[in-house]
Amino acid sequence: MYTIKRKTIIETIKDLFIDSAYNLDEKLVSSLKKAKQSETNNLGKNILDRIIDNQEIARNDDIPLCQDTGVSVVFLEIGRELIFDYDLEEAINVGVRRGYIDGFLRKSIVKHPLNRINTLDNTPAIVHFNFIPGNKLIIHVAPKGGGSENMSRLKMLSPSEGEAGVIDFVLDTVKKAGGKACPPLIVGVGIGGNFEKSALLAKQAIFRSIDDNAKNEVDQKLEKLLLEKINKLNVGPMGLGGTTTALAVKVNSFPCHIASLPVAVNLQCHSARKKEVTLIGKKINNTN
Ligand code: SF4
Repeated sequence: MYTIKRKTIIETIKDLFIDSAYNLDEKLVSSLKKAKQSETNNLGKNILDRIIDNQEIARNDDIPLCQDTGVSVVFLEIGRELIFDYDLEEAINVGVRRGYIDGFLRKSIVKHPLNRINTLDNTPAIVHFNFIPGNKLIIHVAPKGGGSENMSRLKMLSPSEGEAGVIDFVLDTVKKAGGKACPPLIVGVGIGGNFEKSALLAKQAIFRSIDDNAKNEVDQKLEKLLLEKINKLNVGPMGLGGTTTALAVKVNSFPCHIASLPVAVNLQCHSARKKEVTLIGKKINNTN
């Protein structure tokens, strides 16, 4: 069996959140630059320029890309040969606390949705656990902004509404969000499963690489079609018009009940911060 020290988890999580808040993924930057070339609206082009400048300043000066440094979302892929003699979720929260304090990131979490008292360290993180073969721990993190999250939606469609119903719902969600979700967007779409599974699929979709393809042909086709239709909505960069409303659409699907067609849309703003790292477990004997 293998393990990873608590200290390593804490330091890794801290570094990942600081890094993601300051440094936008290079592939996303390339996509923004490409979008600037193809944007037909002058105001839209100008806004894309400002977004590109902003990420350069954040990178060079070690400051957050946006004042909203989000909810700390963590997806873990845990190798089945790993064992932890400590509370992994607690260690993650210590890492988040250190990252948000040491990195001067805004603390955006309140203790209770109704009493609104800030926890002052951005904890608790939202942690998802999955298991994989082997002795690796793959950690994905994203500080998820509140603006785009607030405009995300879920609907239980009737199966007879089919693909057309899904398309209508996604387009309606992006249109209603307008500038409030800070486009250009990455649109995560989860289809199938049940109520909570569809939301999780949509969230996992925005964690995918901007240049990857969906796992099956149906989803791949839908991604292309939706991207084309979304960019004809004239929402544009920051909602002020233009042909760049979304940089990518990511569709994740899952089997579902014969009577259901759940669809969830998780909107990710242009400040699409996410990072991942793979840690390799050490043989238990070596760690003692
Ligand atoms: S939605 Fe994104 S870009 Fe807009 S304020 Fe929130 S984190 Fe910042």
